[in-house]
Amino acid sequence: MKTYLGFDYGGTKLLIGELDEQGRVLRSKRYPTGCVMQEQAVEKLLECTADYCDTVGFEGELQAAGVGIVGVSNHDTGEWISMTHEKEGDPVPLADMLAEKLGVPVAIDNDVRSATTAEWKLGHGKFSDNFIYINVGTGLAAGFVVNGMLVRGANNNSGEVGHSVMNLADKRYCVCGRTGCAENVVSGSGFAKQAAEYCLLEVLLADRPNSADASKLFELADAGNESAVAITEYAADTLAALIMNLVRVTDPDTVILGGGVVSDGWLLEKVKPRLNPSTMRGVTKGVVLSNFTPAYVGLIGAASLGMVLCEEKKK
Ligand SMILES: [Zn+2]
Repeated sequence: MKTYLGFDYGGTKLLIGELDEQGRVLRSKRYPTGCVMQEQAVEKLLECTADYCDTVGFEGELQAAGVGIVGVSNHDTGEWISMTHEKEGDPVPLADMLAEKLGVPVAIDNDVRSATTAEWKLGHGKFSDNFIYINVGTGLAAGFVVNGMLVRGANNNSGEVGHSVMNLADKRYCVCGRTGCAENVVSGSGFAKQAAEYCLLEVLLADRPNSADASKLFELADAGNESAVAITEYAADTLAALIMNLVRVTDPDTVILGGGVVSDGWLLEKVKPRLNPSTMRGVTKGVVLSNFTPAYVGLIGAASLGMVLCEEKKK
């Protein structure tokens, strides 16, 4: 059986796992990392790889591996450029380093483009050459497949749609330095900021101070809590507007929503009636929820980078 190894590196945790060609997770192991510096993170990644090979091992015949990682990556050179979106340190040839350890080719990409690759190879994107994958998790970002090509950009920084200004009248600052960004309104971190402003601190989880528990917020909104209703209505308006703006840019036939904030479908039900049928008329396959469970989409995405690498080598 041909298999692919995925590395889902999210900053505070690393999930390593082996998948078959259908994207089924055969074996996996989760490691806490907690690294804030890139150098430490690379060391930890190599250490965990060695541990995985020793303690978990492989069920099939490993063909390739993929790394879906936070920050900025250069897919073409296999380098991990930085852990954040601010430039820091020298790029690390992470794909080559892991290829040497594993004895198979390794591809690397950022976390959202990895998830987009998972949709492309194994999810709703299998049936489309033009789709947008929007990830609403702690942050807000997107991956674009246009005319059968995944868009990366001149600096591997495409898809940062969370930093689209959606409301010029909203003067709250965003981490990117602008005001009125979508990420401040519709994301786990955006919900947390607004919950604090509305004195709705019960929706903040003690162990996740930077990201609100979206399902708790939605429950409060359903129960009629005015603050929760205001936050979620603003989020639904913003996400609907963002989807329609992006549809106007790349003309997709499918829009896929994934990530912890949208995975229960609550927000999508609020968004759907706000979508203008005329704007959305070309989105013939609809606005759909990802079929992957949020806990595994990063791993499946990472492994699918390895699958694509093998396909490209065959060409
Ligand atoms: Zn921003």
